[in-house]
Amino acid sequence: MKKDELTEAQKKAFEENKAAFRELDEHRRSIQEAARARLTAHGWEPGLEEHIPCLSCPCPDFQHGGPLGTCRRSTCGHPLIDHDLPL
Ligand SMILES: [Zn+2]
Ligand SMILES: [Zn+2]
Repeated sequence: MKKDELTEAQKKAFEENKAAFRELDEHRRSIQEAARARLTAHGWEPGLEEHIPCLSCPCPDFQHGGPLGTCRRSTCGHPLIDHDLPL
């Protein structure tokens, strides 16, 4: 679909969606901060700087290539957003 084929209503819907996803992003950040705090309170360490450990399991680093963007590590399999992404 070409961009100039969008109706006004579709353009508005895209704008609303974009805003909703930004809201979700903010929500994700606060959840992630809480998740990290919950773990660090019990001695968890994020590990090496370039690593993206999972906050839902002991996976030490996100592995690309799992189905639908999930972690490829067989013991993990959680979505990227479960991992400790840089804020
Ligand atoms: Zn993982
Ligand atoms: Zn995991």
